[in-house]
Amino acid sequence: MEHKDNKYNMNSYKTPPSFIKDIIEEDLKNNKNEGRVHTRFPPEPNGCLHIGHAKSICLNFGFAKEYNGLCNLRFDDTNPETESAEFAQFIQDDIRWLGFDWEERLFYASDYFVKFYEYAETLIQLGKAYVCELTEEEIRQYRGTVKQAGIESPYRNRSCEENLILFRKMKAGEFPNASYTLRAKIDMASPNMKMRDPLIYRIRKKRHYRTGDKWNIYPMYDYAHCLSDSIEGITHSLCTLEFDNNRALYNWFLDQLPVKQLPQQIEFARLNLTHTVMSKRKLTLLVNEKAVDGWDDPRLPTIAGLRRRGYTPSSIRKFVEKVGIAKSDSTVDIALLEHCVRDELNATAQRVMAVLKPLKITITNYPDNKDEYLTAINNPEDKNAGSRMIPFSRELYIEQDDFMETPSKKFFRLAPGREVRLRYAYFIKCEEVIKDESTGEIIELLCTYDHQTKGGSAPDNRKVKATLHWVSAKHCYNGTVRLYDHLFKTPDPVADEQNDFRTQLNKESLVTLQNCKLEPSLKQSTPCQRFQFERLGYFFVDPQDSKPDSPMFNRIVTLKDTWAKILKKTSK
Ligand code: ATP
Ligand code: MG
Repeated sequence: MEHKDNKYNMNSYKTPPSFIKDIIEEDLKNNKNEGRVHTRFPPEPNGCLHIGHAKSICLNFGFAKEYNGLCNLRFDDTNPETESAEFAQFIQDDIRWLGFDWEERLFYASDYFVKFYEYAETLIQLGKAYVCELTEEEIRQYRGTVKQAGIESPYRNRSCEENLILFRKMKAGEFPNASYTLRAKIDMASPNMKMRDPLIYRIRKKRHYRTGDKWNIYPMYDYAHCLSDSIEGITHSLCTLEFDNNRALYNWFLDQLPVKQLPQQIEFARLNLTHTVMSKRKLTLLVNEKAVDGWDDPRLPTIAGLRRRGYTPSSIRKFVEKVGIAKSDSTVDIALLEHCVRDELNATAQRVMAVLKPLKITITNYPDNKDEYLTAINNPEDKNAGSRMIPFSRELYIEQDDFMETPSKKFFRLAPGREVRLRYAYFIKCEEVIKDESTGEIIELLCTYDHQTKGGSAPDNRKVKATLHWVSAKHCYNGTVRLYDHLFKTPDPVADEQNDFRTQLNKESLVTLQNCKLEPSLKQSTPCQRFQFERLGYFFVDPQDSKPDSPMFNRIVTLKDTWAKILKKTSK
């Protein structure tokens, strides 16, 4: 797959200042881990990545880059229920697209199944693990509460020999699902609930997408994760805050077993965004129930969705950098993400004119058979972007919204008898409104132009209050445009516990407009190009739904920077 979106030199990539950076630098100073920095990104291939994962990717690969270290990609695929090779492939594409590279270090926790098993036998031999026959429900009851110590399992003190025989039978598939478990023998009275004899293995007679039917037992996350880290020589194992309580267990397994490498688990705040959901379980529901159009629906916070929407990898990296790395959870305003891509595209995107909801105007004093080419600037932020010629003629389109028959007080655009500027063209004045006789709908405006105002200024210096974008009716061509809004109406769709988050879905999150009028230069547009439609926002040529003569444009963001407003408010 080609990733031409990454024009930026990733070698100079730097993570923002953080407590993790401080830890790494201190470790390097003390020559801990022989001065190595080795991180990993450990996704479970049970869904596509979202922007929360992008944060973890930027940190893990970022620290490795910055400190001359290595970062592995490891699929944490120890649960056969929902994992698949397709998801593993999507995840790899997304990470590459974000600009990061694991080189030859692609690993699978499922490749360590034999090793995990051997280590489990070692734990049994050390008297640190036992085969338990309590049901899942009983285990929960025996565990106790935060205030109350748990009760020891009646199976806790089996002999090592008996444990080994039973565990081997579990492995051989001699018992039904959920009938036996292997548990760590730690402390049923520990104040940390995770340490109350947690599960190590459970029976799941289920086909695994990589190991097939070979295994009847599968290891639990806490057990598999620390061992995978250790096997790969990971030095700093970054994870999100909710694993805080799991750290003791992470270290406990490594302390018991004869491992060479002791990685350090460090927790950071997970990324949450307003107006969306970030958990893979919820995203899976939306996709499976077809509330959205697949994992790459441009409304989703998935990497695939953002990419399809038209976000650039650099804008996502910038966003992660701006969010920073904290030790307490918070929710970031989605306006910050939008600000990041807007900021980048402001500097790089070519400007064009497109009319989304067209209203025809005829310039009655402009010659019928004349075409004229006017100079339009490609990007006022980039001198090297040059200019192009745009056709002007007697019949034009402007936006329906740019005209009001009886203008309200704050409406300064076109109205009967009023003069406005057409961008890069002339001043025009509305002389007459033509309506459909039966419906009363405005179908056309008759206007006049002042030929002395070519280029947009009048020799007598008279002013107009608005500048409109437009296209020439005979030169423009039709395209389809998709406008997106937040996927959820409310900032925090999961806050209301009474109502399912799906009741908060925004029914207007996608509006498709057909027969939009596009300036002729857009005929040359190719999939994945980005443009600013003047006054309307930044748009992306959809790579899947565009056809050679009928492009499909996705609006990435509007031009309205609500983040800048938020910043202003908070600095007051
Ligand atoms: P979810 O909570 O969305 O279901 P997950 O944690 O189960 O995701 P994994 O595939 O296990 O998904 O995640 C891979 C890595 O990404 C983990 O190290 C995890 O901590 C990190 N990660 C997941 N969600 C976020 C988030 N919102 N912010 C930062 N890092 C995240
Ligand atoms: Mg997880």
